[in-house]
Amino acid sequence: MGMTSEMAKFAGTIHKMRENIDMLVETNTSPTIVNDMRDLVDEILDTLEEALFFNSDVQDDMGITAAVTERMDLACPHCSSRVYDNRIRKADDAQETYSPKSPDFICSNDDDCKGMIQGKLRKLRASWYLQDLDGKPKQLPEQWLI
Ligand SMILES: [Zn+2]
Repeated sequence: MGMTSEMAKFAGTIHKMRENIDMLVETNTSPTIVNDMRDLVDEILDTLEEALFFNSDVQDDMGITAAVTERMDLACPHCSSRVYDNRIRKADDAQETYSPKSPDFICSNDDDCKGMIQGKLRKLRASWYLQDLDGKPKQLPEQWLI
């Protein structure tokens, strides 16, 4: 799973808890108690990973929740270059360069792709969105099978 910002925060706290447990060993705390505490910390970590994994799922336009796997096989219909699948990064608050307005898919070719459009300052790469601004599903290239 991708590391979400919540996960990073929890991982830091849990790392500190582990350090404190290690210090208990040095204060002659009973090994049974120390091992119980280690087990509990591991259990918390497993539960969090599961919960956060399911929370990072993306709801599709049918209202069905499905885990999204990054597609590495998408080709631009204009120039056949690799297309980046940013759906997961876009949903991750820890990724500051991606906002809800970022394209879900973007052509890697910023040179001579016919799908490039003129932006305010420069030509922008061909890009695709899952939904328009009203939340209606948009048409993606059929060959992507998304
Ligand atoms: Zn292209």
